[in-house]
Amino acid sequence: SLKGKTAVITGSNSGIGLGVARELARAGASVVLNSFTNAPEDHQLAEDMAREFGVPVRYIQADMSKGDDCRALIEKAGACDILVNNAGIQHVAPLDEFPVEKWDAIIAINMSSTFHCTAAALPMMRTAGWGRVINIASAHGLTASPYKSAYVAAKHGVVGMTKVVALETAKEPITCNAICPGYVRTPLVEAQIPDTAKKYDMTEDEVIEKVILDRQPSKEFATVEQLGGTAVFLCSDAAEQITGTTISVDGGWTAL
Ligand code: NAD
Repeated sequence: SLKGKTAVITGSNSGIGLGVARELARAGASVVLNSFTNAPEDHQLAEDMAREFGVPVRYIQADMSKGDDCRALIEKAGACDILVNNAGIQHVAPLDEFPVEKWDAIIAINMSSTFHCTAAALPMMRTAGWGRVINIASAHGLTASPYKSAYVAAKHGVVGMTKVVALETAKEPITCNAICPGYVRTPLVEAQIPDTAKKYDMTEDEVIEKVILDRQPSKEFATVEQLGGTAVFLCSDAAEQITGTTISVDGGWTAL
């Protein structure tokens, strides 16, 4: 059981972050949810999760595109035994047309937030004498696709950083790993279907079948529950010697 452990999950009012938060709560962890918004629904989400799983759940607003906000999130959490660096966005465009502000935002949110949050959390893990850093990278942290320059660069960066953090904590009871999902049907994926349809001159159904699931030999989306289960495994005693590596949850994508 993860009772007594505090888990901070960045970007967790939706999609994979929310799914991972739910599985960590189910395993008994106290949970800190996060996004850049501060809506009544965000706090309601925390209240509902606390009631469902019988664990403390808080929502803390912080913008993961800003380094100071990342560090403030960890400080406000007060404890951080499990850090899940999950916040991420996507933009799809050819490199020579890629909007500079989208490049900067993707590098900041998908990659630099992992640096800032981990830097703030490691001292707390050292004090507690136990820690797990789990980076939600991507199959795009290991392979590439056209039109996703910023995302692929950021995710490869996260995989690299995962190895460095693992080496810097190798002699301590702290591990750092990356989970590399293939396609999961979240709002992030839904949002890129229309653009991809335009790019390849296909209908949206054709994009799902021929572009998205074409990369995934299982021909099925991975689920947020499966990613949550993988995170819970990385927090278990069985995973104590697993550090500095990636776990693909991609239906065989990176085996191709
Ligand atoms: P999503 O859009 O459902 O969730 C993204 C989360 O990040 C949301 O909670 C959103 O509020 C939050 N977020 C966005 N900008 C933020 C900011 N500036 N500050 C704080 N929070 C912010 O998407 P998702 O698919 O659940 O993506 C979660 C992570 O999983 C991302 O890092 C993504 O790259 C990765 N991933 C997703 C897939 C997939 O197929 N969906 C595959 C591989 C990796």
